[in-house]
Amino acid sequence: MKRDIAQLAAQGVRPGLAAVLVGENPASQLYVKSKIAACEQLGLASWLHTPPANVSTEWMLQLVTDLNNDDNVDGILIQLPLPAQVHSKRVLEAVSPAKDVDGFHPVSMGMLVSNRPGLVACTPAGCMEILRRNKIPIEGANAVVLGRSDIVGKPMALLLLHANATVTVCHSKSRDLPGIIGRADILVAAIGRAGFVQADWIKPDAAVIDVGTNKVTDAAEAKRLLAHFPARLEKFATKGNVLVGDVHPDAANTAGALTPVPGGVGPMTITMLMSNTVKAAKLRRGVAAANESKSQPAATAR
Ligand code: NAP
Repeated sequence: MKRDIAQLAAQGVRPGLAAVLVGENPASQLYVKSKIAACEQLGLASWLHTPPANVSTEWMLQLVTDLNNDDNVDGILIQLPLPAQVHSKRVLEAVSPAKDVDGFHPVSMGMLVSNRPGLVACTPAGCMEILRRNKIPIEGANAVVLGRSDIVGKPMALLLLHANATVTVCHSKSRDLPGIIGRADILVAAIGRAGFVQADWIKPDAAVIDVGTNKVTDAAEAKRLLAHFPARLEKFATKGNVLVGDVHPDAANTAGALTPVPGGVGPMTITMLMSNTVKAAKLRRGVAAANESKSQPAATAR
């Protein structure tokens, strides 16, 4: 990204991200802080808007309109969850698709379904980047996506499909999960259940991407999940909690490759948010990037 950002700077363009953080949810505050820090590290412009927890839908819609109209802003990030009185869908749908760096807008989703250039949800885009950079063969592979949420499971399945994997999507009503998972060359787990996927369900040598980030606070559960990881158990004893993915940590011994939790998909999600902001700046301002040929429009880089 640094090369692209330098090239944009040479043309007088500094991509910018506007983050909206409503209220004082500590987890959301931490996420937004990391995103702003990533902008600063890369030299992107950033703005933080912090409306109070009792903000109305109308107020949020006006803020989004202002950000849509602000030419310095390339990306708009609405940190979720929003308070109950705010109509989240209306607010997210008010974001201009050209600035939808989270990829949650129905227009962005539609572009993804039809495999057209656009902004893709950061977590699944990050999972694809992890697979590609680790040279995991995707074409023709049996890929299983566990979870079908709009922000992870569904876009993940579409990205794998567009990369020519044979994709199976599983959810809470799926039968025989161990059998289906056992045939996966690539497994992406995104269900929000600590250590749900057992190590012996996984096909030997499969590539496993663990999207889940579950805070475990129960000592017995931590012991069950981390019996073979004494250093992590010790940390639990000091801190009183530990982050565990949706895949049992013992899978480190059975899978061919496994993303760590924490430190795997999470940081990649932030990275892809930065990448989407740079991409939105290029698409919106019609600038070609350093690594794209002159004859190829910038818009073709998904
Ligand atoms: P979500 O909206 O709650 O969706 C969960 C999905 O998992 C649903 O499709 C649900 O099925 C399915 N599911 C739940 N229990 C299941 C079970 N026992 N067996 C099979 N499927 C089951 O969650 P999400 O937003 O996609 O997030 C999933 C996990 O990823 C969470 O731990 C979240 O914290 C984490 N996450 C991490 C990042 C990151 O940056 N690292 C980003 C986003 C999310 P139904 O549709 O049938 O209900």
